[in-house]
Amino acid sequence: MSTLRLINPTTTELIAEQSLATAADTDAAVAAAKAAGPGWRAINPADRSRLMRRFADLIAAHAQELGEMETRNMGMTIGNSVWCANAAADTMHYFAGAIEKHGGSTLPGVGGVNLTFPEPLGVVGLITPWNFPMMMAAWKIGPALAAGNTAVLKPAEITPLTTIRLGQLALEAGIPEGVLNVVVGTGQEVGWRLVEHRDVRKVAFTGSTAVGKRIMAGCADQVKRVTLELGGKSANIVFADADLEKAAAAAPGAIFDNSGQDCCARSRILVQRSVFDRFLELFIAAAKGFTIGDPMLPTTAMGPMATEQHLARVRTFSDGLDTAYTSDVPDGPGYWHPIMIATPSDPTAAVCRDEVFGPVVVVLPFDDEADALRICNDSDYGLSGSIWTRDGSKALRAARAMEAGTISVNSNSSVRYWTPFGGFKQSGLGREHSMKVLDHYTEMKNVFIATGD
Ligand code: NAD
Repeated sequence: MSTLRLINPTTTELIAEQSLATAADTDAAVAAAKAAGPGWRAINPADRSRLMRRFADLIAAHAQELGEMETRNMGMTIGNSVWCANAAADTMHYFAGAIEKHGGSTLPGVGGVNLTFPEPLGVVGLITPWNFPMMMAAWKIGPALAAGNTAVLKPAEITPLTTIRLGQLALEAGIPEGVLNVVVGTGQEVGWRLVEHRDVRKVAFTGSTAVGKRIMAGCADQVKRVTLELGGKSANIVFADADLEKAAAAAPGAIFDNSGQDCCARSRILVQRSVFDRFLELFIAAAKGFTIGDPMLPTTAMGPMATEQHLARVRTFSDGLDTAYTSDVPDGPGYWHPIMIATPSDPTAAVCRDEVFGPVVVVLPFDDEADALRICNDSDYGLSGSIWTRDGSKALRAARAMEAGTISVNSNSSVRYWTPFGGFKQSGLGREHSMKVLDHYTEMKNVFIATGD
């Protein structure tokens, strides 16, 4: 069995040697999940809900431990990682409550009645990325199990620790063996096996658009259900009539949180030309307060990049970039990348169009509302976005016209487990969160019962 060395990106020290599963291990996990399905569905909804609530409570009780594990594994700040653990617990509570609320309908017919049933799919394959490992896992485990499925979950092999711990906590909560199976391995070996396996009825994938396309093509062979949560190049639009101080103060968090390794990162800031210079000045001042350092310290706002390889990838965008501001980085070991604010004159440059997935933001001017929306929508991506204005009608008009799935007005928030979340265009397919996601984890069946009248 091959192993992978997991490195703490802050210290570059070895934290674990992770053994990697094979396709045969994946087959065994799928078989276990298949065998556990009938038993899981035979538990009455109130008891299944109770098990998931216990799981949620255990996640919350271990929030600090999980947070520290995540921070050591991928460099997320401790405040953020503990918050993610609590958010994972809240997500699990929400879907525990959904079990008894998700149902079908009764539709009248002639000579009978129609009953609709949302039926579980069976075994679902869940594939998650390295940037928010624990939260991405919870977003998928919750609805998958609530809908009556059993699951094989493959975390990103470089950040598997919190997901493995979630698997242990699920067992500790009393969720029966085989219902949730965590298999750590590479995408090519374990992930692809989930795509190929005939007993896996759906793949729920979060990751890059490039891999998402391959997975979608792979699923086509069996018309396998697939949902995709992919990359983004989200726009933060600041109109001249906005509260500029507020917009500028909020902007650093929207791009530099998690070192920019956030699918919803507002990596393009579009600012109306008449206030461009003023906004830039305020934004740079705010960015200077975004402290980079040891992510274990509660005062740190940004840690290192998750891996050396990812740091090298981000540098392919940032090396030689002409910036309006570049921060310092800590001395010593660690995969540090500075905060960079650029104002490129060419809006078609790669840094303006591609997902950098690092603490690099471009600030671009626009003339009017139509121009802002043209620049915003001139992207293959469409995950999220923000609009800053004091004009309510303009805010709503622009929000409706933005080609993105999750939009905030006078805020940069993106994700709430009780509201639908997902992307337009190449940012994804399907939605996570809210009761809507359960449609992606069930098949709708209609039964007609003749009543003889
Ligand atoms: P990635 O696509 O490289 O990997 C994601 C997962 O897919 C990993 O578990 C990986 O091992 C697996 N994988 C890789 N190749 C595979 C294959 N051929 N078959 C099956 N599985 C395979 O993405 P990443 O670098 O881990 O994550 C960063 C990306 O994820 C960014 O693009 C980011 O925007 C996106 N993301 C999107 C959301 C969202 O909700 N839309 C959330 C978080 C991250």
